[in-house]
Amino acid sequence: MPRYEYRCRECGDDFELSRPMAEASAPASCPYGHDDTVKLLSTVSVGGAAPAPAGGAGGGGAGGGCCGGGCCG
Ligand SMILES: [Zn+2]
Repeated sequence: MPRYEYRCRECGDDFELSRPMAEASAPASCPYGHDDTVKLLSTVSVGGAAPAPAGGAGGGGAGGGCCGGGCCG
């Protein structure tokens, strides 16, 4: 059963609940009994997104070809 994280706007407490996905957006009461809660982004990583590698390859332009050697003349 997935876990969802909620935050109480009454006392500012974060808490987690294990509940079916069908009830993910259902109202949740904080451990102190407050009903003014918001659902945070799920900490459950289903699938997951692979971090993109940061490529930073610089370098000078590597020419090539015959024109550099005078063979074209
Ligand atoms: Zn609360």
